[in-house]
Amino acid sequence: MAKRLASPEPTWEIDTDVVVLGSGAAGLSVALAARPVRDVILITKDTLDAGSTQWAQGGLAAVLDPDDSIENHVRDTLAAGAGLCNEVAVRTLVTEAPTAIRYLSRLGAAFDPGDDGGIALTREGGHSHDRIVHAGGDQSGAEVQKTLDESVRHAGVRVVEHAFGLDLLIGYNAQGHRCVAGVRVALLDENGDVQSVGDITARAVVVATGGFGQVYASTSNPPAVTGDGIALALRAGAEIVDIEFIQFHPTVLWTGPDATGQQALISEAVRGEGAILFDAAGERVMKGVHSQEDLAPRDIVAAAISKRMSESPAGVDDHVFLDARSIGARFVTRFPSITASCLVVGINPVQDLIPVAPAAHYACGGIRADLDGVTSLIGLFAVGEAACTGVHGANRLASNSLTEGVVAGTRVGRSLSWSLPENIRPAEDDRVSGLLPAELRAELRGTMSKHVGVLRAPDGLRSAHDTLQRLLDKVDADVVATRRSFEATNLLTVAVALVAAATARTESRGCHRRTDFTQALPEWQRHLLVIDADGTITPQ
Ligand SMILES: Cc1cc2nc3c(=O)[nH]c(=O)nc-3n(C[C@H](O)[C@H](O)[C@H](O)COP(=O)(O)OP(=O)(O)OC[C@H]3O[C@@H](n4cnc5c(N)ncnc54)[C@H](O)[C@@H]3O)c2cc1C
Repeated sequence: MAKRLASPEPTWEIDTDVVVLGSGAAGLSVALAARPVRDVILITKDTLDAGSTQWAQGGLAAVLDPDDSIENHVRDTLAAGAGLCNEVAVRTLVTEAPTAIRYLSRLGAAFDPGDDGGIALTREGGHSHDRIVHAGGDQSGAEVQKTLDESVRHAGVRVVEHAFGLDLLIGYNAQGHRCVAGVRVALLDENGDVQSVGDITARAVVVATGGFGQVYASTSNPPAVTGDGIALALRAGAEIVDIEFIQFHPTVLWTGPDATGQQALISEAVRGEGAILFDAAGERVMKGVHSQEDLAPRDIVAAAISKRMSESPAGVDDHVFLDARSIGARFVTRFPSITASCLVVGINPVQDLIPVAPAAHYACGGIRADLDGVTSLIGLFAVGEAACTGVHGANRLASNSLTEGVVAGTRVGRSLSWSLPENIRPAEDDRVSGLLPAELRAELRGTMSKHVGVLRAPDGLRSAHDTLQRLLDKVDADVVATRRSFEATNLLTVAVALVAAATARTESRGCHRRTDFTQALPEWQRHLLVIDADGTITPQ
């Protein structure tokens, strides 16, 4: 297993206080909060809006209705998290969420107004009250992205697009502890070819690179979401936690058996507005499965759909149908993006049933961190979907992640304004380097979708493990360094960790479902840490 991405030798060096990797809600919030006091460089491997934030439809969860309460939101989050949330982190997030919404509004975010002149609130799966703030109907993430993009540019943050964070620079403090001293970066052209490589030395490196949905062939995540930050943290020796908990969105638009890559999401908010799931034989999917029926938490809905598909009702085993016709013509204005995605494939959601299937959507696990971003490595901070703060436990409650990005991002930026780790010079890096050929991505992603999806069987996990071991043998220092081969290698690193943890967790809990251990077991109410890029696991 390579412990470093192979790349050309560095030819430049820049020094700063804080370097942020990633320009989604989390990274931008960090940069904005740290910038008034610190010199901040934000690098992002594509354009600013290439991450998941831009695509979020449903919105941001926050208690804004006087009939709702912090306790309700905490309770719903803990219930979805299936015994693995950190209650202190949840309480902090939920308590600070309303302030985060007001902050975004002050920065200029135009949230959809309600009838009473305040902000409109809707409900999503697992929420006991209306508390989802949205913008442009289903363009909530785009509004957050635009607002933060503009604010960061006005704040004087140095933003470098097409700059790929490769690996952390490691040094040692006076006590001999390993510390993060900066990040090695490849500047890319628009085709993803390397223009130059350099080092950004910094007192704090903040990883805000998002999740890793692209490890699956079937995902709602955009192409940039390849787990780079988690992979580079693992290679540097940081702890990764809860990586087996991948939330599968129950309903992405099913466009045919051969569809791959990012698939259009049919937001839970559509079910919040009254749409109902049916199988191909016309039977309701969620009736009798859960007390909240079609608004049950995501993992329950995704598992119910997967199970129903495996029974092949009316001979259809790869999708079910969402009937949103009760919403009527209002669907078009309430959900303009979803309407557009459906129309592209010839479906009019006002009149037609929408074919849907589950797809990888959200990584509940990631780099172990607290809500101030502090990780197991001095000088390394993690935030947003790349981090695991204990807020989501074994399953994220819908719309808590954008909120977490802004709340935790602002906290991280503020705390770095107050104090920075000491200045450490990078030491000589003698880690073995290599890259996976980019063309092997398809095999990797297909294997993960087939064997490590919503329902995980022991023989499937074994088969995935064998495939990954074979792919590891193809990692080589002579593979051409491009964005695609960097990403392929990072996807492989994340997949190895994910399969190891999914194999080790012999129970079903939250969004991790085993066919051979179908119940949650009390002895498994604990976390699994991955502590090495070779997939070495340690229970906590
Ligand atoms: C279709 C869809 C709908 C969703 N709907 C909702 C919703 O309604 N509500 C909700 O709360 N959540 C939703 N989510 C989840 C939510 O959007 C994400 O969890 C959240 O936006 C993650 O924010 P982030 O800042 O952590 O990461 P991202 O927004 O994914 O940003 C990651 C950034 O890191 C950059 N990057 C990655 N690797 C590197 C590297 N090596 N070097 C430099 N830069 C790098 C990327 O280019 C990107 O800019 C949705 C997700 C999707 C995909």
